[in-house]
Parts: sequence; C-alpha cells; structure tokens
Amino acid sequence: MDELRMDGRAVLERMRELPGGREVSHLAAGRGDVELVGGAVRDLLLERTPRELDLVVAEDAPSFARELSSRLGIPAAGDPEGGSGIAAHERFGTALVWWPGGRVDIAARRAESYSAPGALPDVRAGTTEEDLRRRDFTVNAIAVLVAGPRMGEISAVPHAFEDLARSRLRVLHERSFVDDPTRLLRLARYLARLEFEPDEHTAELAAQALAGGQLATVSGARIGAELRLLLSEPDPLAALGRLSELGVLEALGPGLRLQKRVAQRALDALPPDGHSDMLLLATLLLGMSHDPTGDPERAMLELLDDLEFTAGDRNRAHAAALKAQVLLDRLEAARTPSELGEPVQAAPVEALALALALAEEQGRTQAAAAAARWISELRHVRLQITGDDLLAAGIPAGPEIGRRLKLAMRRKLDGELPGGREAELSAAMEAL
Ligand code: ATP
Repeated sequence: MDELRMDGRAVLERMRELPGGREVSHLAAGRGDVELVGGAVRDLLLERTPRELDLVVAEDAPSFARELSSRLGIPAAGDPEGGSGIAAHERFGTALVWWPGGRVDIAARRAESYSAPGALPDVRAGTTEEDLRRRDFTVNAIAVLVAGPRMGEISAVPHAFEDLARSRLRVLHERSFVDDPTRLLRLARYLARLEFEPDEHTAELAAQALAGGQLATVSGARIGAELRLLLSEPDPLAALGRLSELGVLEALGPGLRLQKRVAQRALDALPPDGHSDMLLLATLLLGMSHDPTGDPERAMLELLDDLEFTAGDRNRAHAAALKAQVLLDRLEAARTPSELGEPVQAAPVEALALALALAEEQGRTQAAAAAARWISELRHVRLQITGDDLLAAGIPAGPEIGRRLKLAMRRKLDGELPGGREAELSAAMEAL
C-alpha cells in the first residue's frame, strides 16, 4: 500500500509539470474529490507524456471546467481565434477545457449500463470503483487522488498494474466489445501506440465480437470518430496494421484492405502540405476499386458518408483512390510536363503521392520520376500574368483570354519561359 501511495505521489508530481497540472492541483486542494484517471495516469506510470489530463470529480464537471479555465485565464465564452475554449456535454456530465498547448478532460464519476449492444450507455452518478469498471481496458482504469488527506492514493481494477508492467491490453469483462464495439478500434490504436499485445482472452473476445457482426450495431458516426482518431495517431500505419491484423478493417467495409508497402511509399512521397490521414484512407479504399456492384465510386462515397467524414475529406480521399491509377498511366505516357494536362493539374496532392507509390510498386520508374517532379516542383508553377494583363494588351474579354493563359502556362510548365512576366505576356499574345 505504501508503495502504491508513493507511486501515486510521483504521478502527481509529474502531472504538475504538464500544461494545466499546477492549476488542477491548486483547484483540487480546496476539495477532496478530484482524481486523475485514464490515459493520463497510464502514460505517467509508463513515463510517457499524456496527450491530455483526464480528471473525474464527484459531480458537476462543467462548473469545475469553468473554475479551471478562469485560473488558466481562458475567457468564459472561450477564444476560438486564440485556440482556447470550454465545452460541456450535459448528458454524460463531462466537460473539456483546451488552450494552445494543453487540454483537460473532466467527467463526473459515473456508472454506466448498456440497454442494447452498441447503444450509447445509460449513465448515473457512481463511485470511484464503478467509474473505473465502466472503462475499456485495465491499464486505462487506474485513478489517483489529486489532493486531500489521502492525496496520491491509487485505485485500480484487478490486473491493472500487472497488465501495465507486462505491456498487455485486457478488457474488464466478457461483454465489453458487445456493449461498445468501438473499443475494437481503440484496441488497435493502443496496441500500436503503446506497443502492447492483447491478453489472449481479450483477443478471443474481439474475434468473437467481429464474427458476431457487432460492429454493425454502432452508428457510422461513432466508428468514423474512432477511425479518425486512429488515422491521426503518431504512427497511423502501425495502428492500421493492428486494425487489419485484428480483422476490424475488413469488417468496416467490404474491400477495405491495407497494402502496407504502398501506404508507406505514399506517405514518404507526401509533402508537408498534404493530408496524411486522407492519403492513408485512400490507400485503404484502393481495395474497393473492384467493387462487385461495378460502381466503386458510389461504394466509396456511401462508406465515407456513413462514417461521417466531412465533404472536403471525403472528396480528397475518394478522388485519390479513384484517380491514382489513371494518373499513373498519364504520368507514364506524357513526354513533356504540359502533356500531363488537366487531370494531373486538378488532382489533389494525395492522388499524386498515391500514383507515385503505385508506380514504384509496379516498377514504372519513369512515371514515378514524373510524379515526384510534379509534387516537388511543377505543381507550384503559376503564371505571373493574369487575364487583366491580356485585357490591357487589347485582347477582348471572353474565352480567348483563358485559352491564351493556358497556352502560356503550357509553355511555362515545359520550361520555355524563363524570362518571367514579359516572356509570359509575349507567349500569351502569340497567335493561337
Ligand atoms: P489518449 O491518450 O488517446 O487521449 P486516453 O486513454 O486518454 O487516450 P480518451 O479517449 O481520452 O483516451 O478517454 C479517456 C479515458 O476514458 C480512457 O482512458 C478510458 O478509460 C475511458 N474511455 C474512453 N472511451 C471509452 C470507451 N469507448 N469505453 C470505455 N472507456 C472509455
């Protein structure tokens, strides 16, 4: 017991060094009910840096959040431009405070029950023990009292420390994946991030839940939210690898498939302004190109809409998946950059990165080199002149302006106009 208390105090010391940790500590000192819990405790015990502080309080998480934000100097209404705010979720008695560099998640201690598999839980106030029992994995079910006479005291579900020490993920009860199948995605995410292994029985329960079609009991929105978290992990490819090994990926949509080498090559080809999460999603969608209904585009869009991706993300991912192979053919056939034409110019950079990866995979070196040049150099080529310059030079308003600008652009792409504005203008003024 002494040893646990010591550990708890060490966890709190490290917490105080984290963004918001000192303020949480001060606020908790005036009350005896605040516990640090969940991923924050797990990570601090593993000597990792938590992404946020997870707290539980006896009741009224939103009012704790307001007090905390006032200590942190965050205005009551938040400051969207400054990147800070407070959000409360009344139904679950939770609240979130965030600011540049920090995030604190607060929940009122609760007990949960599930009226049906995959449904959102029914929630009532609960004890520390009940609050730990509702959680996903043993290593996430450890709480440390932040202040009061028992400061540093640790509560945990059975096996939590043993599992933490042995790098193991274990669910808390037999029905865990049935109650909440999104835990199947969380399992993949933590396995990859923490480099843990599933406990044998947990792996069996996951396989049973998948075989029983439990994922279908959850809304696409909730699965999509977990998938988005997974795609934004520090090593999303490792997380997708785990998702695929568990059989979850294939269960999310028929045809979804992880080609690890293609995905890695595509990530390597993506410039910093690209969206790596949407690129990875596109590589998964490649497997749907042979959709049995013969309409892969519709199948992809339906899946992405069901998972509630935003329209922008959905279009980026599905355009990359659909166009990569066509782009590859074009990159191979073009003898000059200007011959690449509209499809390449209009394609999102993720599509080009994927085309490059496929080209490398298929040993099409010329196409790979053309894609690499487009990504690093040619996609940034812009004319210095505009339609106004052509109007000023006497070209009448109308489609001819566009045609002439295109002509100048083609020559610029092919490196024929090194002279800047003047050279562009005379190229555009040449007879069509
Ligand atoms: P991260 O490091 O990604 O923030 P985390 O473990 O803190 O991971 P959160 O999603 O912030 O994860 O959730 C905080 C805690 O809430 C978890 O550690 C876990 O105890 C609990 N939790 C979250 N989602 C679920 C779920 N679907 N089922 C059961 N418990 C959950």
